[in-house]
Amino acid sequence: MTDRYAVIGHPVAHSKSPEIHASFAAQTGQDIDYQRLLAPLDGFNQTVADFIAAGGRGANVTLPFKLEAFALATRLSARAQAAGAVNTLKFDGDAIFGDNTDGVGLVADIVRNAGVALAGRRILLLGAGGAARGVILPLLQQAPGELVLANRTAARAAALAQEFAAAGPIAASDFADLAGPFDIVINATAASLSAELPPVAPGVFGRAAFAYDLMYGKEPTVFMRFAAQHGAAVRDGLGMLVEQAAESFLLWRGVRPATAAVLAQLRLQLQTQ
Ligand code: NAP
Repeated sequence: MTDRYAVIGHPVAHSKSPEIHASFAAQTGQDIDYQRLLAPLDGFNQTVADFIAAGGRGANVTLPFKLEAFALATRLSARAQAAGAVNTLKFDGDAIFGDNTDGVGLVADIVRNAGVALAGRRILLLGAGGAARGVILPLLQQAPGELVLANRTAARAAALAQEFAAAGPIAASDFADLAGPFDIVINATAASLSAELPPVAPGVFGRAAFAYDLMYGKEPTVFMRFAAQHGAAVRDGLGMLVEQAAESFLLWRGVRPATAAVLAQLRLQLQTQ
């Protein structure tokens, strides 16, 4: 019987996960069925229960349910525990394993796809929301020289830096006091969604800096344009989306698909939309 998977969200119609996983399945010869599941805002747990009863083997979880998925899991990976959020569920009998592949997806896209090393580098992470929290541990596991967090609500960045202090060299700073330059600047704020620029000074971009925006779209974001104007090489978050999916696929199927062709296909689709 074909194994069933789904992405669960609200809304979910925009999700590219079904086509990404269909490509992975075709490429690796795995027989899976992957659908979108729209859960009612107050019905995440019931949607998961119904899906398991209907033969679901695993699910991706997107906004706004990543915290509910964290609470529902009966066992968590270390990276999900650190992120405080779950984007991948694996069902096995009564057990629900929760993982978070967002951060490792970001690291894979930067290191493997963009060819930018993180070890020893000075990294600035903008934002202290769910996405920022999820990427901190995987970034620190790359042994950067320093990871500095800056957030509009400064206290949230300070609290995160304190929470992850034992995991590596991490500090928090107000936007106004940021002591550049940095080798790598990652925008994990939601500012790009409203075409706004986080309040960073051009001095944060070091010589030959690399700037990454977790958001993706047809056009470069305001942050990417600003970083490019100040000499940085820029990249958006489409590769992170594909890489987090590849990590979920690995967890479910035990095989890591190649991602380059899938990423190229999605990029083409975005540009011709
Ligand atoms: P979130 O939990 O709502 O957090 C939003 C963060 O952005 C907070 O730190 C907030 O600061 C900050 N912020 C919002 N508007 C801002 C503005 N105008 N100027 C400066 N800072 C602003 O959101 P999230 O889940 O972390 O998502 C953040 C971004 O990551 C989104 O664009 C999302 O699409 C993207 N993302 C991409 C992927 C991928 O696979 N590529 C995966 C996950 C997320 P305060 O604390 O001051 O409110």
